Amino acid sequence: MEIKELKNRALAANLALVKHNLVIFTWGNASEIDRENGLVAIKPGGIKYTDMTADDIVIVGLDGRIVEGKLKPSSDTPTHLELYRRFLKIGGIVHTHSRYATTFAQDKKPLPPYGTTHADYFHGEIPCTRELTAEEINSEYELNTGRVIAECHPDPDGVPAVFVAGHAPFTWGKSAMDAVYNSVVLEEIAQMALLMTRKEPVSQALLDKHYFRKHGKNAYYGQNYS
Ligand SMILES: [Zn+2]
Repeated sequence: MEIKELKNRALAANLALVKHNLVIFTWGNASEIDRENGLVAIKPGGIKYTDMTADDIVIVGLDGRIVEGKLKPSSDTPTHLELYRRFLKIGGIVHTHSRYATTFAQDKKPLPPYGTTHADYFHGEIPCTRELTAEEINSEYELNTGRVIAECHPDPDGVPAVFVAGHAPFTWGKSAMDAVYNSVVLEEIAQMALLMTRKEPVSQALLDKHYFRKHGKNAYYGQNYS
């Protein structure tokens, strides 16, 4: 993929976060990786979404070196890069402080699959990381955030989301826009979960039914374009 195209895709995903009311001010960031060339396009740090253009998007290598861009990449870049290094099938990552998903993260609680909206996109509980130690916070904080996510997550392909304890959610997907989509769903199911009074997860059968009719080789939901 051309660098220009990669930047445009990252920009579109970052702007979609605003459109879906998942970010305010400069909170949050989206990135996309070109696996073939080992390049990641990510939002620059502290830039208002309304002012951002494709030229502002920063291109970094998987080792963090800046390949192209005048601005500094988001301070969360080391978290994104660690997730790209550890979760080899993902193509895009989103981090927000959206209200309801962040409430789960601050409560340091996982989100069980309470209904089929959850099961359609996440094949199981959304996990919550452990808290970082003082040492992990004081040295390489953002890299260590990526490490605790990878350490806690049993199924990054089936459950493309996580709560970072005391902080906020990260989601991922096949592309940056796919990760945005998963962020929107996560926010929705987190809100529904907080409104529930009878907190009982769906059965494994219903979870499997809804997940596998949309994902994997036997998926049949929607249109078959292949
Ligand atoms: Zn954050």
